[in-house]
Amino acid sequence: MSKELSLLMLPGDGIGPEIMTEARRVVDWLGHNRALNFFVEEDLVGGAAYDDGGKPLADKTLERAKSVDAVLLGAVGGSQWDGVEYDMRPEAGLLALRKELGLFANLRPAICFESLVDASSLKPELVSGLDIMIVRELTGGVYFGEPRGIETLPNGERRGVNTQVYTTSEIHRIAHVAFDLAGKRGGRVTSSEKANVMESGLLWREEVTKVALDYPEIALDHMLADSCAMQLVRAPKQFDVIVTDNLFGDLLSDVAAMLTGSLGMLPSAALGIKGGGAMYEPVHGSAPDIAGKDIANPIATILSLAMALRYSFDCAAEAQLIEDAVQDVLAGGLRTADIMQPGKAKVSTSVMGDSILRAMDRLNIT
Ligand code: NAD
Repeated sequence: MSKELSLLMLPGDGIGPEIMTEARRVVDWLGHNRALNFFVEEDLVGGAAYDDGGKPLADKTLERAKSVDAVLLGAVGGSQWDGVEYDMRPEAGLLALRKELGLFANLRPAICFESLVDASSLKPELVSGLDIMIVRELTGGVYFGEPRGIETLPNGERRGVNTQVYTTSEIHRIAHVAFDLAGKRGGRVTSSEKANVMESGLLWREEVTKVALDYPEIALDHMLADSCAMQLVRAPKQFDVIVTDNLFGDLLSDVAAMLTGSLGMLPSAALGIKGGGAMYEPVHGSAPDIAGKDIANPIATILSLAMALRYSFDCAAEAQLIEDAVQDVLAGGLRTADIMQPGKAKVSTSVMGDSILRAMDRLNIT
Protein backbone atom coordinates (compact mmCIF):
# COMPACT_ATOMS: atom_id res chain seq x y z
CA MET A 1 0.00 0.00 0.00
CA SER A 2 1.34 3.44 -0.89
CA LYS A 3 2.01 6.06 1.80
CA GLU A 4 -1.11 7.61 3.35
CA LEU A 5 -1.74 11.22 2.33
CA SER A 6 -3.76 12.92 5.06
CA LEU A 7 -5.87 15.90 4.02
CA LEU A 8 -8.24 18.01 6.10
CA MET A 9 -10.87 19.81 4.02
CA LEU A 10 -12.41 22.93 5.56
CA PRO A 11 -15.09 24.25 3.17
CA GLY A 12 -16.02 27.27 5.32
CA ASP A 13 -18.71 29.77 4.32
CA GLY A 14 -20.45 31.24 1.27
CA ILE A 15 -19.30 29.50 -1.92
CA GLY A 16 -16.78 27.46 0.14
CA PRO A 17 -18.89 24.28 0.31
CA GLU A 18 -19.73 24.39 -3.44
CA ILE A 19 -16.16 24.80 -4.64
CA MET A 20 -14.88 22.27 -2.10
CA THR A 21 -17.34 19.66 -3.42
CA GLU A 22 -15.61 19.89 -6.81
CA ALA A 23 -12.14 19.62 -5.22
CA ARG A 24 -13.36 16.56 -3.29
CA ARG A 25 -14.39 14.92 -6.57
CA VAL A 26 -10.86 15.46 -7.90
CA VAL A 27 -9.42 13.87 -4.73
CA ASP A 28 -11.74 10.87 -5.18
CA TRP A 29 -10.76 10.63 -8.86
CA LEU A 30 -7.06 10.52 -7.89
CA GLY A 31 -7.80 7.81 -5.33
CA HIS A 32 -9.49 5.64 -7.96
CA ASN A 33 -7.38 6.38 -11.03
CA ARG A 34 -3.88 7.04 -9.67
CA ALA A 35 -4.08 4.78 -6.61
CA LEU A 36 -3.21 7.63 -4.26
CA ASN A 37 -3.95 6.58 -0.71
CA PHE A 38 -5.80 9.62 0.65
CA PHE A 39 -7.14 9.85 4.19
CA VAL A 40 -9.62 12.74 3.97
CA GLU A 41 -11.47 14.41 6.82
CA GLU A 42 -13.87 17.36 6.64
CA ASP A 43 -14.63 19.90 9.34
CA LEU A 44 -16.11 23.34 9.95
CA VAL A 45 -14.29 26.67 10.01
CA GLY A 46 -15.25 30.36 10.05
CA GLY A 47 -18.88 31.39 10.36
CA ALA A 48 -20.08 27.80 9.99
CA ALA A 49 -17.95 26.74 12.98
CA TYR A 50 -19.11 29.76 14.99
CA ASP A 51 -22.77 28.90 14.37
CA ASP A 52 -22.10 25.30 15.33
CA GLY A 53 -19.98 25.73 18.46
CA GLY A 54 -19.55 29.45 19.22
CA LYS A 55 -15.94 29.65 17.92
CA PRO A 56 -14.62 30.16 14.36
CA LEU A 57 -12.03 27.43 14.94
CA ALA A 58 -12.89 24.65 17.37
CA ASP A 59 -10.01 23.16 19.39
CA LYS A 60 -10.61 19.74 17.87
CA THR A 61 -10.40 21.21 14.35
CA LEU A 62 -7.08 22.86 15.17
CA GLU A 63 -5.76 19.56 16.54
CA ARG A 64 -6.82 17.82 13.33
CA ALA A 65 -5.18 20.55 11.23
CA LYS A 66 -1.92 20.05 13.14
CA SER A 67 -1.97 16.30 12.61
CA VAL A 68 -2.52 16.13 8.83
CA ASP A 69 -0.08 16.60 5.93
CA ALA A 70 -2.16 19.42 4.43
CA VAL A 71 -5.27 21.51 4.98
CA LEU A 72 -7.41 22.60 2.02
CA LEU A 73 -9.59 25.58 2.92
CA GLY A 74 -12.48 27.06 0.90
CA ALA A 75 -13.22 30.56 2.19
CA VAL A 76 -14.66 32.19 5.29
CA GLY A 77 -16.83 35.19 6.07
CA GLY A 78 -20.16 36.80 5.38
CA SER A 79 -22.24 39.77 6.50
CA GLN A 80 -24.36 37.63 8.85
CA TRP A 81 -21.35 37.56 11.22
CA ASP A 82 -20.64 41.31 11.05
CA GLY A 83 -22.04 41.85 14.56
CA VAL A 84 -19.94 39.11 16.16
CA GLU A 85 -17.10 40.27 18.46
CA TYR A 86 -13.80 40.80 16.64
CA ASP A 87 -11.92 37.72 17.85
CA MET A 88 -14.87 35.42 17.11
CA ARG A 89 -15.36 36.64 13.52
CA PRO A 90 -14.96 34.00 10.75
CA GLU A 91 -11.65 35.57 9.62
CA ALA A 92 -10.24 35.05 13.14
CA GLY A 93 -10.51 31.30 12.53
CA LEU A 94 -8.35 31.60 9.44
CA LEU A 95 -5.74 33.79 11.17
CA ALA A 96 -5.62 31.37 14.11
CA LEU A 97 -4.98 28.46 11.74
CA ARG A 98 -2.10 30.32 10.05
CA LYS A 99 -0.59 31.28 13.39
CA GLU A 100 -1.01 27.94 15.17
CA LEU A 101 0.36 25.99 12.20
CA GLY A 102 3.37 28.36 11.99
CA LEU A 103 2.70 29.14 8.32
CA PHE A 104 5.36 31.75 7.59
CA ALA A 105 5.64 31.39 3.79
CA ASN A 106 2.81 32.41 1.51
CA LEU A 107 3.20 31.16 -2.07
CA ARG A 108 1.08 32.94 -4.65
CA PRO A 109 1.58 31.84 -8.24
CA ALA A 110 0.43 34.21 -10.96
CA ILE A 111 -0.03 32.07 -14.04
CA CYS A 112 -1.78 33.31 -17.14
CA PHE A 113 -3.66 30.52 -18.88
CA GLU A 114 -3.24 30.86 -22.64
CA SER A 115 -7.00 30.83 -23.28
CA LEU A 116 -7.50 33.69 -20.81
CA VAL A 117 -4.83 36.13 -22.03
CA ASP A 118 -7.60 38.49 -23.16
CA ALA A 119 -9.04 38.64 -19.61
CA SER A 120 -5.91 40.41 -18.31
CA SER A 121 -5.85 44.17 -18.00
CA LEU A 122 -2.48 44.12 -19.82
CA LYS A 123 -1.82 43.54 -23.51
CA PRO A 124 -1.83 39.81 -24.45
CA GLU A 125 1.84 39.84 -25.52
CA LEU A 126 2.85 41.03 -22.04
CA VAL A 127 1.07 38.22 -20.18
CA SER A 128 1.04 35.31 -22.62
CA GLY A 129 3.06 32.53 -20.97
CA LEU A 130 3.30 34.42 -17.67
CA ASP A 131 4.37 32.21 -14.73
CA ILE A 132 5.52 34.08 -11.61
CA MET A 133 5.75 32.80 -8.04
CA ILE A 134 5.47 35.40 -5.29
CA VAL A 135 6.84 34.26 -1.93
CA ARG A 136 5.50 36.51 0.81
CA GLU A 137 6.67 36.39 4.43
CA LEU A 138 3.46 35.88 6.39
CA THR A 139 4.04 35.99 10.14
CA GLY A 140 6.43 38.91 10.71
CA GLY A 141 6.97 42.52 9.68
CA VAL A 142 4.79 45.53 10.25
CA TYR A 143 1.54 43.57 10.67
CA PHE A 144 2.86 41.98 13.86
CA GLY A 145 5.73 44.23 15.06
CA GLU A 146 5.70 45.88 18.50
CA PRO A 147 5.15 48.58 19.62
CA ARG A 148 1.83 49.12 17.88
CA GLY A 149 -1.36 50.98 18.69
CA ILE A 150 -3.04 54.38 18.76
CA GLU A 151 -2.21 56.75 21.60
CA THR A 152 -3.27 60.26 22.58
CA LEU A 153 -0.39 62.68 23.17
CA PRO A 154 -0.37 65.27 25.99
CA ASN A 155 -1.25 67.98 23.45
CA GLY A 156 -4.40 66.05 22.52
CA GLU A 157 -3.09 64.92 19.13
CA ARG A 158 -3.52 61.21 18.33
CA ARG A 159 -0.61 59.06 17.15
CA GLY A 160 -0.78 55.71 15.34
CA VAL A 161 2.23 53.38 15.51
CA ASN A 162 3.20 50.18 13.75
CA THR A 163 6.69 48.72 13.72
CA GLN A 164 8.43 47.03 10.80
CA VAL A 165 10.73 44.45 12.34
CA TYR A 166 12.57 41.40 10.99
CA THR A 167 15.23 39.15 12.49
CA THR A 168 17.92 37.28 10.58
CA SER A 169 16.27 33.89 11.21
CA GLU A 170 12.94 35.12 9.85
CA ILE A 171 14.64 36.41 6.70
CA HIS A 172 16.76 33.29 6.26
CA ARG A 173 13.87 30.82 6.45
CA ILE A 174 11.75 32.69 3.87
CA ALA A 175 14.78 33.17 1.61
CA HIS A 176 15.46 29.41 1.71
CA VAL A 177 11.86 28.75 0.60
CA ALA A 178 12.33 31.13 -2.35
CA PHE A 179 15.70 29.70 -3.44
CA ASP A 180 14.45 26.10 -3.12
CA LEU A 181 11.43 26.95 -5.29
CA ALA A 182 13.54 28.76 -7.88
CA GLY A 183 15.66 25.61 -8.15
CA LYS A 184 12.55 23.72 -9.30
CA ARG A 185 11.48 26.51 -11.66
CA GLY A 186 13.37 29.11 -13.70
CA GLY A 187 16.41 29.42 -11.38
CA ARG A 188 15.97 33.15 -10.63
CA VAL A 189 15.04 35.02 -7.44
CA THR A 190 14.21 38.72 -7.19
CA SER A 191 14.28 39.98 -3.60
CA SER A 192 12.21 43.09 -3.00
CA GLU A 193 12.35 45.63 -0.12
CA LYS A 194 13.01 49.32 0.47
CA ALA A 195 16.68 49.15 1.44
CA ASN A 196 17.10 52.77 0.34
CA VAL A 197 14.90 54.17 3.13
CA MET A 198 14.36 51.39 5.71
CA GLU A 199 16.97 49.73 7.92
CA SER A 200 14.84 46.58 8.05
CA GLY A 201 14.99 46.60 4.23
CA LEU A 202 18.78 46.90 4.29
CA LEU A 203 19.00 43.97 6.71
CA TRP A 204 16.66 41.99 4.44
CA ARG A 205 18.90 42.67 1.43
CA GLU A 206 22.11 41.74 3.27
CA GLU A 207 20.69 38.52 4.75
CA VAL A 208 19.10 37.32 1.50
CA THR A 209 22.47 37.89 -0.17
CA LYS A 210 24.11 35.67 2.49
CA VAL A 211 21.56 32.87 1.96
CA ALA A 212 22.19 33.07 -1.80
CA LEU A 213 25.75 31.78 -1.18
CA ASP A 214 24.19 28.36 -0.46
CA TYR A 215 22.57 28.38 -3.92
CA PRO A 216 25.30 29.12 -6.50
CA GLU A 217 23.06 27.82 -9.30
CA ILE A 218 20.34 30.43 -8.59
CA ALA A 219 20.59 33.99 -9.95
CA LEU A 220 19.66 36.63 -7.35
CA ASP A 221 18.81 40.25 -7.98
CA HIS A 222 17.41 42.95 -5.69
CA MET A 223 14.67 45.39 -6.61
CA LEU A 224 13.11 48.18 -4.58
CA ALA A 225 9.46 47.39 -3.89
CA ASP A 226 8.09 50.44 -5.69
CA SER A 227 10.17 49.64 -8.74
CA CYS A 228 9.04 46.01 -8.53
CA ALA A 229 5.38 47.12 -8.61
CA MET A 230 6.12 49.18 -11.70
CA GLN A 231 8.01 46.36 -13.44
CA LEU A 232 5.18 43.92 -12.67
CA VAL A 233 2.83 45.92 -14.88
CA ARG A 234 5.50 47.00 -17.40
CA ALA A 235 7.20 43.68 -18.18
CA PRO A 236 5.96 40.94 -15.83
CA LYS A 237 7.59 38.06 -17.69
CA GLN A 238 11.05 39.19 -16.49
CA PHE A 239 10.28 37.60 -13.08
CA ASP A 240 10.56 33.99 -11.92
CA VAL A 241 10.37 33.97 -8.08
CA ILE A 242 9.86 37.19 -6.12
CA VAL A 243 10.60 37.03 -2.38
CA THR A 244 9.43 39.86 -0.19
CA ASP A 245 8.15 40.82 3.25
CA ASN A 246 4.63 40.71 4.63
CA LEU A 247 3.50 44.23 3.69
CA PHE A 248 5.11 44.50 0.24
CA GLY A 249 4.07 40.91 -0.49
CA ASP A 250 0.47 41.76 0.29
CA LEU A 251 0.54 44.54 -2.31
CA LEU A 252 2.73 42.93 -4.97
CA SER A 253 0.81 39.65 -4.95
CA ASP A 254 -2.46 41.49 -5.55
CA VAL A 255 -0.91 43.38 -8.45
CA ALA A 256 0.36 40.10 -9.89
CA ALA A 257 -3.06 38.51 -9.37
CA MET A 258 -4.73 41.05 -11.61
CA LEU A 259 -2.30 40.28 -14.43
CA THR A 260 -3.98 36.91 -14.79
CA GLY A 261 -7.60 37.98 -15.20
CA SER A 262 -9.82 36.51 -12.53
CA LEU A 263 -9.83 35.95 -8.79
CA GLY A 264 -11.64 32.67 -9.38
CA MET A 265 -8.50 31.21 -11.00
CA LEU A 266 -5.88 31.90 -8.34
CA PRO A 267 -4.60 29.31 -5.84
CA SER A 268 -2.24 29.88 -2.91
CA ALA A 269 -0.24 27.94 -0.36
CA ALA A 270 0.94 28.80 3.13
CA LEU A 271 3.83 26.67 4.34
CA GLY A 272 5.53 26.19 7.70
CA ILE A 273 8.85 24.60 8.50
CA LYS A 274 9.81 21.56 6.40
CA GLY A 275 7.69 18.59 7.44
CA GLY A 276 5.39 20.90 9.45
CA GLY A 277 1.98 22.33 8.66
CA ALA A 278 0.70 23.49 5.29
CA MET A 279 -2.53 25.10 4.18
CA TYR A 280 -3.80 25.59 0.65
CA GLU A 281 -6.63 27.92 -0.31
CA PRO A 282 -8.00 29.96 -3.19
CA VAL A 283 -7.03 33.64 -3.09
CA HIS A 284 -10.66 34.78 -3.32
CA GLY A 285 -13.12 35.14 -0.44
CA SER A 286 -16.48 33.52 0.26
CA ALA A 287 -18.32 35.52 -2.46
CA PRO A 288 -21.64 35.73 -0.57
CA ASP A 289 -23.20 37.51 -3.57
CA ILE A 290 -23.15 34.30 -5.63
CA ALA A 291 -23.27 31.62 -2.89
CA GLY A 292 -25.71 28.76 -3.40
CA LYS A 293 -26.27 29.53 -7.10
CA ASP A 294 -23.95 26.90 -8.60
CA ILE A 295 -22.12 29.59 -10.60
CA ALA A 296 -18.87 30.01 -8.60
CA ASN A 297 -15.61 29.14 -10.32
CA PRO A 298 -14.09 26.05 -8.62
CA ILE A 299 -10.76 26.30 -10.49
CA ALA A 300 -8.81 28.28 -7.83
CA THR A 301 -9.69 25.61 -5.25
CA ILE A 302 -8.86 22.74 -7.60
CA LEU A 303 -5.52 24.41 -8.44
CA SER A 304 -4.91 24.84 -4.69
CA LEU A 305 -5.32 21.07 -4.39
CA ALA A 306 -2.75 20.73 -7.19
CA MET A 307 -0.34 22.85 -5.13
CA ALA A 308 -0.94 20.56 -2.13
CA LEU A 309 -0.07 17.57 -4.30
CA ARG A 310 3.15 19.24 -5.46
CA TYR A 311 4.39 20.75 -2.19
CA SER A 312 2.96 18.54 0.59
CA PHE A 313 2.37 15.15 -1.02
CA ASP A 314 5.31 14.97 -3.43
CA CYS A 315 2.94 14.06 -6.28
CA ALA A 316 4.16 16.45 -9.01
CA ALA A 317 2.80 14.27 -11.84
CA GLU A 318 -0.74 14.41 -10.43
CA ALA A 319 -0.43 18.17 -9.84
CA GLN A 320 0.59 18.59 -13.47
CA LEU A 321 -2.32 16.40 -14.60
CA ILE A 322 -4.80 18.68 -12.81
CA GLU A 323 -3.19 21.81 -14.26
CA ASP A 324 -3.19 20.32 -17.76
CA ALA A 325 -6.86 19.32 -17.37
CA VAL A 326 -7.80 22.90 -16.39
CA GLN A 327 -5.86 24.21 -19.38
CA ASP A 328 -7.61 21.68 -21.63
CA VAL A 329 -11.10 22.61 -20.43
CA LEU A 330 -10.44 26.33 -20.91
CA ALA A 331 -8.99 25.70 -24.36
CA GLY A 332 -12.18 23.78 -25.16
CA GLY A 333 -14.13 27.01 -24.58
CA LEU A 334 -15.89 26.32 -21.25
CA ARG A 335 -16.15 29.24 -18.82
CA THR A 336 -17.83 29.94 -15.51
CA ALA A 337 -19.61 33.31 -15.36
CA ASP A 338 -16.65 35.21 -13.82
CA ILE A 339 -14.34 34.41 -16.76
CA MET A 340 -17.02 34.39 -19.49
CA GLN A 341 -15.88 35.72 -22.88
CA PRO A 342 -17.82 36.26 -26.13
CA GLY A 343 -18.27 33.07 -28.14
CA LYS A 344 -17.54 30.75 -25.18
CA ALA A 345 -19.91 28.38 -23.37
CA LYS A 346 -21.05 29.45 -19.90
CA VAL A 347 -21.17 26.53 -17.44
CA SER A 348 -22.09 26.02 -13.79
CA THR A 349 -19.74 25.14 -10.91
CA SER A 350 -20.64 21.46 -11.12
CA VAL A 351 -20.35 21.25 -14.92
CA MET A 352 -16.91 22.89 -14.71
CA GLY A 353 -15.98 20.23 -12.12
CA ASP A 354 -17.36 17.44 -14.36
CA SER A 355 -15.43 18.77 -17.34
CA ILE A 356 -12.13 18.87 -15.44
CA LEU A 357 -12.66 15.25 -14.37
CA ARG A 358 -13.41 14.20 -17.98
CA ALA A 359 -10.25 16.02 -19.11
CA MET A 360 -8.28 14.14 -16.43
CA ASP A 361 -9.75 10.89 -17.81
CA ARG A 362 -8.52 11.84 -21.28
CA LEU A 363 -5.06 13.00 -20.21
CA ASN A 364 -4.42 10.23 -17.68
CA ILE A 365 -1.42 8.16 -18.75
CA THR A 366 -0.16 5.92 -15.96
P1 NAD B 1 -14.61 37.92 -2.57
O1 NAD B 1 -13.29 37.41 -3.08
O2 NAD B 1 -15.41 36.95 -1.79
O3 NAD B 1 -15.49 38.43 -3.80
C1 NAD B 1 -15.09 39.50 -4.67
C2 NAD B 1 -15.85 39.37 -6.02
O4 NAD B 1 -15.29 38.26 -6.75
C3 NAD B 1 -17.33 39.06 -5.83
O5 NAD B 1 -18.07 39.71 -6.85
C4 NAD B 1 -17.43 37.57 -6.02
O6 NAD B 1 -18.68 37.13 -6.50
C5 NAD B 1 -16.30 37.30 -7.01
N1 NAD B 1 -15.71 35.98 -6.80
C6 NAD B 1 -14.87 35.61 -5.78
N2 NAD B 1 -14.56 34.32 -5.91
C7 NAD B 1 -15.19 33.86 -6.98
C8 NAD B 1 -15.27 32.58 -7.61
N3 NAD B 1 -14.61 31.50 -7.15
N4 NAD B 1 -16.04 32.45 -8.72
C9 NAD B 1 -16.70 33.50 -9.21
N5 NAD B 1 -16.67 34.74 -8.69
C10 NAD B 1 -15.92 34.91 -7.58
O7 NAD B 1 -14.27 39.22 -1.72
P2 NAD B 1 -15.27 40.14 -0.85
O8 NAD B 1 -16.59 40.24 -1.53
O9 NAD B 1 -14.49 41.34 -0.55
O10 NAD B 1 -15.46 39.36 0.52
C11 NAD B 1 -16.56 38.49 0.81
C12 NAD B 1 -16.30 37.79 2.14
O11 NAD B 1 -15.15 36.95 2.00
C13 NAD B 1 -15.99 38.76 3.29
O12 NAD B 1 -16.62 38.27 4.44
C14 NAD B 1 -14.48 38.68 3.43
O13 NAD B 1 -14.05 38.94 4.75
C15 NAD B 1 -14.23 37.25 3.06
N6 NAD B 1 -12.86 36.96 2.57
C16 NAD B 1 -12.35 35.76 2.94
C17 NAD B 1 -11.11 35.38 2.46
C18 NAD B 1 -10.61 34.01 2.84
O14 NAD B 1 -11.37 33.19 3.32
N7 NAD B 1 -9.34 33.71 2.60
C19 NAD B 1 -10.39 36.21 1.60
C20 NAD B 1 -10.97 37.43 1.22
C21 NAD B 1 -12.22 37.78 1.71
